[in-house]
Order: sequence, then structure tokens, then C-alpha cells
Amino acid sequence: MTRPSPPPPRPPRRLNACELEIDLFCHGMRLAPDVCLDGSRAVSRTRAGLGSGLEVVLPTGSRVKRDIWVNVPVAERFAETSPYSLVGNAREGHRIVDDRSGESYRVRVPAAPRWYSKETSRGIPMSRVGVLQGTYLGIYINPVCAFWNYAPPLNCRFCTTGQNVGVSEATEKTISDVVETCRAARAESGVTFVHLNGGFQGSRGLEFAAPYVAAIKREVGMLVGLQLAPERAFERYDAVIDAGVDHLSFCLELLDPDWFARICPGKARIHGQHLFLEAMTYCAKRLPRGAVSGEIIAGLEPVEFTLEAIDLIADLGAFPTVCIFRPTVGADLEEWPPPSYDEMRRVMLHLYDTCRRHWIPIGIAPNIEVSLVVNPDDAALLMDRGVAWYAYEAWRRMLGLVARPLFRHRLRRRPPPIGEPPSHGRSR
Ligand code: SF4
Repeated sequence: MTRPSPPPPRPPRRLNACELEIDLFCHGMRLAPDVCLDGSRAVSRTRAGLGSGLEVVLPTGSRVKRDIWVNVPVAERFAETSPYSLVGNAREGHRIVDDRSGESYRVRVPAAPRWYSKETSRGIPMSRVGVLQGTYLGIYINPVCAFWNYAPPLNCRFCTTGQNVGVSEATEKTISDVVETCRAARAESGVTFVHLNGGFQGSRGLEFAAPYVAAIKREVGMLVGLQLAPERAFERYDAVIDAGVDHLSFCLELLDPDWFARICPGKARIHGQHLFLEAMTYCAKRLPRGAVSGEIIAGLEPVEFTLEAIDLIADLGAFPTVCIFRPTVGADLEEWPPPSYDEMRRVMLHLYDTCRRHWIPIGIAPNIEVSLVVNPDDAALLMDRGVAWYAYEAWRRMLGLVARPLFRHRLRRRPPPIGEPPSHGRSR
């Protein structure tokens, strides 16, 4: 695909934690020759490949949000010329240094959890079943996304799932593999949310996923999110909701139809944008506010479309999630430049402001920090603080307190329906 011209550089100055997060997504980071990363989380190329960076925690110094988790690109070509470099070690601490300004930012490089080196009862390393991306657990459960099986392939051009399933992660993850990994992640890392995804699986994706959802809810007691290409039989969404799913997400990716067809040829040919929007609308009516999200990728189509997509998703009653485009190694768009800081800052400001105007309850669920995206509540740090900002922040804080018993309830194990045995050990 034709490579557009590179983005303009951003003028150097000291950034707040959310600005630094955005700039790290846009520039990546070099690892200084003497930096010590012993014991840290390894770079993971599972799922779509977006976790191909180094997990880093940025302290904010703010009471609005204490820490920001970011998966910083380090393996991609553009990161080789990044002005940022990571220095230090676990004993003395790590810092990110900006060569342009000489600014130095204290950061934390989280340790790999001990359960990464454990195996499931089938002998599958748990790190090949699930991966921590921030504070949540991500698991690709289905067979490889069917878009990769077409000739020529119809995969989304930014994705590398077809290269990762069976290579960086196990080909098949049984219900018992997934349940055991979730249990270890919950017990040892305090994980509260597992995100299951599986790309395009024809009309069988939801049916395949429902037993995984039910088993996790029954045997572990976690919040469970599910992300699949949309299916036309909406009653299948009712089945996964009945199984206990807490969150459903739909990857619309791009708003402009031409860009959508160019970057996501499979989705354009098989589904069409309208199906994503209809499924999102249907589920947003069935689940509590904030439990359905529409995901878009920023930095490919002109930014005005991205802003419009954020508005559209919020108008449909869903929660907009924005991923900054990463030209992942091995993807069709590998040679494309990352987006510009100024545009992405504008997008994230709009994201926060849209959530505020729609009173979307962002950042309410306990201990869910996603390192692959700028969380909407991270972007609170970008806003000028006026009456509207304080009102929304106070409302979010109050809602977080009120919602605590609800989340405690949803984090309890659900007993199986009478007469149904536990699924642990079932080998799907
Ligand atoms: S639907 Fe697109 S992004 Fe998702 S796994 Fe398939 S090719 Fe990758």
C-alpha cells in the first residue's frame, strides 16, 4: 500500500503523563545499551500484535489518576529513531529521557508475573494462553481469524493475528487452559478483567465463546469482556449476555467507507460498517451503560473522521475506545509512519470531552488499566479544568463508590445452573 508522508515532529517541552503516553505511542522508545530489564514483562506478540512493546507505568503526580499504563513500541522501525530512550535498572529505578529537551521522566517497568512460567494441566505455558496488557488479561480464544484464510487474505492491514496464533501463542486454548490461566492471574496478579477476542469466525464466534464466558464466571469470578466480528443473528448476543459477559466490544476501526474498505477489506466485504453499528446499538440497549464499546483506530484516516466516529459511537449509547495506529512488525502497514502527536492529542481531548458530554461512566470498574490505548480517563489530564470538568470528575468519583457493591457482586463466582456440572477440564 502507498506510504503517506511522515508526520511533523512535535516541539519539545515537559509533558504531563497523558501527553507523554500519547507521544510514546507516536514515537516509540529506544532501549539504552546498558538498561537492565531483568524480570520485566517480555515483549509479547500475541493477539493482533499490538502488545509488541514494553509495558511501562507512568506516575501522573495527580489525584485524578495515579498511574498510566502504556505499552511502548520498541520493536518497530520507527522506534529506532525515537527521541525517547529508557535508562536505568530495577534497583535504582528506570527513567525515560527525551533527547530533544533533556527532560527525564521517572517510570516503573512492571515485573513479569510468576504465573507466566507456570503451565496449565495440559502442559501449555500460561504465557502462551494469556498476556497481561496493563492490569487486565488478554486471551485470544478462537481459531485464527478467518480473514487470514482467504486467498488473497482479507485481514485488516494493521493486524498480525494470523502470524501469531500458533507461533507466539498456543493454537488451541481449551476452556480448562483459559480457566486455569484466569485463576492464576486473579490469585497472583489481582486481575479483575479478562478480555477474550477471536476476530472473524463466521456465524460461530459467539457460540464458540459462550462456554468460555460461562466457565470463567462460574469457576473464577472475573469481569469478562468479549470482542468478535459482529454476527447477524442478534439473539446470539443474548446468549453470551445470559452466560454472564460483562463487556462487549465492536471494532469498527474506521468511519470513512473508502478507508474502511482499504484497511479492513474483510470487514468491508463480509460485514459492512452498518452491521458493526447495528450490533453495537442492540447490545448497548441490553447491557448497562459503559458496558459496550466501539473501537476505532486513529492515525490512518483523516482525523476529522476519527472525531466523527467518536461522536457516532457515543450517540449510539456505546463507549468509544481509540487505539493509536502502530505500524507493527510484519503487518501489511509495517512501513507506514505512526501518527503525529498533535493530531492524537486532539483526538484524545475529543474522546474525553465526548464521554463527559454523554455522561459515560469511564474508569469506574475496579483495576482495569489498558496499556494498548489511551484510556478515556487518562485524557482527563489533557483538559482545562473548568466547572464542567469538575462536575464530571465528581460524578465519576461518586459513581465509582456507588458501583463498588455491584462490581463486588459481579466478581463473585456464579454457581452453575442446577443439574449442570462444572466445565473445568472440559476440552473444547
Ligand atoms: S478481524 Fe481484523 S483485526 Fe481482528 S483478528 Fe481478524 S484481521 Fe485481525
